[in-house]
Amino acid sequence: MNSPTSLQELVEALRCLPGVGPKSAQRMAYHLLQRDQAGAARLGRALTQALALIHHCERCNTFTEEPVCELCRSPRRDNSLLCVVETPADLLMMEQAQVFRGQYFVLMGRLSPLDGVGPRELHLDRLVRRAADGAVKEIVLATNFTVEGEATAHYIGEILRAKGLKVSRIARGLPVGGELEHVDSGTLAQAVLERREMLS
Ligand SMILES: [Zn+2]
Repeated sequence: MNSPTSLQELVEALRCLPGVGPKSAQRMAYHLLQRDQAGAARLGRALTQALALIHHCERCNTFTEEPVCELCRSPRRDNSLLCVVETPADLLMMEQAQVFRGQYFVLMGRLSPLDGVGPRELHLDRLVRRAADGAVKEIVLATNFTVEGEATAHYIGEILRAKGLKVSRIARGLPVGGELEHVDSGTLAQAVLERREMLS
């Protein structure tokens, strides 16, 4: 058997990306080699650099080039609130919403037994240690409202409540500017179930 050529190796390497099968990996490889060699070189350098410099924040587990990330070091954040999210992208969304002034813990995933992701793979022991640091007064679970995200929130909630910690879950609801007739019935049902008393 012949050893794989560098072209075959490139196609195989591209297949590590989620959702990329043999055909699209081949198309990407041809594109990079034929149409965008500068882009390909940049991609190679960026990957090498990112792999060398980026690791997980000691406190919140998000990606950072420092031992502790900028957000965790900020004196302006409220240390009594800890928000648990699935990914760094979710953290960014929360920050853009500008409603949360506490700290974060990024799970880097969700419980997914079928994919072999259990409590150990998610390093939930680190989350428990972080949440029980004495300063945290409330943990806000902001995992996704998918089956796996809900199961993850439920599991984490049980563990943290057993430690005597206060745990809350972000509410589901109608999108801002949303009209009832365009919302799916599951969302509308949750919005009714999680209704709040109108104060004044
Ligand atoms: Zn951090």
